[in-house]
Amino acid sequence: MNFNMDVSNHDLMIGLDLGGTKILGLVVDRNAQVYARIQVPTPRVSEQIENQVLSVLREMLESCSSKGARIIAIGIGIPGYVNPETGVVIGAGNLGIENLPLRKIVFDSFSIQTHVVHDVRAAALGETMFGAGRGKNYLGYVNIGTGISVGLVLDGKIYNGAASRAGEFGHIRITKDGPLCSCGSRGCLEALASGPAVAGRINNAILNGRKSLITDLIANDGAEVKGEIVAEAAKLGDQLALDVIDETAEYLALSIGSLINVLDLESIIIGGGLANMGDLLISPIRNKLAKYLLAEYKDNVSVLPAELGSDSGAIGAAIASCIELGQQTN
Ligand SMILES: [Zn+2]
Repeated sequence: MNFNMDVSNHDLMIGLDLGGTKILGLVVDRNAQVYARIQVPTPRVSEQIENQVLSVLREMLESCSSKGARIIAIGIGIPGYVNPETGVVIGAGNLGIENLPLRKIVFDSFSIQTHVVHDVRAAALGETMFGAGRGKNYLGYVNIGTGISVGLVLDGKIYNGAASRAGEFGHIRITKDGPLCSCGSRGCLEALASGPAVAGRINNAILNGRKSLITDLIANDGAEVKGEIVAEAAKLGDQLALDVIDETAEYLALSIGSLINVLDLESIIIGGGLANMGDLLISPIRNKLAKYLLAEYKDNVSVLPAELGSDSGAIGAAIASCIELGQQTN
């Protein structure tokens, strides 16, 4: 792990974003300045994830120690349900983890205060304090990737809900019948506008004989349909890619409009894998949103890309651990 500046005698935090495909670790300070980073694949076998997390943390802590930096807290963002009091991961379906006392495991290994948070809420916190949501007290960070969820900031605070399960935005049903969703329901936003849903619609269209540049792009790349390929085809003017993006933006605008109308939000920040399409996806969402908003919200709500990009979850987890530490010492 390489440091981009001198960190001797600095009090720093580690933020870990434990994703379905990769684990991103950042060394940051209280102002979200990133000093060093590490990225490793997430093991496919869930029993190996715990050891991989410990091994990444050990490497980061040894590097920090050799440079004279002090790590005062560790924050870990998890794509699943976490008990914020105990730091137990109750369930993270994509990772195959259940009832894992992650905070205790990490603390017992390194004796450093550890905080475990929901990854999208961590990203919402990172963007609110240091990214596109600076100065806003009411916003939604909409993560569009393998799934769709929202991290809500209401009255300047992260909203967790009664059982810490808030934010299942992807399971708003937007059509009565529709494609089957992972939750067992039909017509959920996630089944229509997530990364896999976009890839599925494109694959179906191609199988049904629709001509598209994507067929060649996949063949050249030897890969499956992914957001980047759809974006590349759209930039080349491919009609199928453009149609599917337009349709996806319509579903997202419809759902985001309802969210704003109910919660009186000032700002929507779009992050996650599909958000790497940038303006190709965000501009049509912005343009379509007005027709789904109550008159008083029109022209008053901003839709912005995540400013911290794919770092927002790890930065937010580190900042959450620092806030937690402050609350314990005060
Ligand atoms: Zn669903």
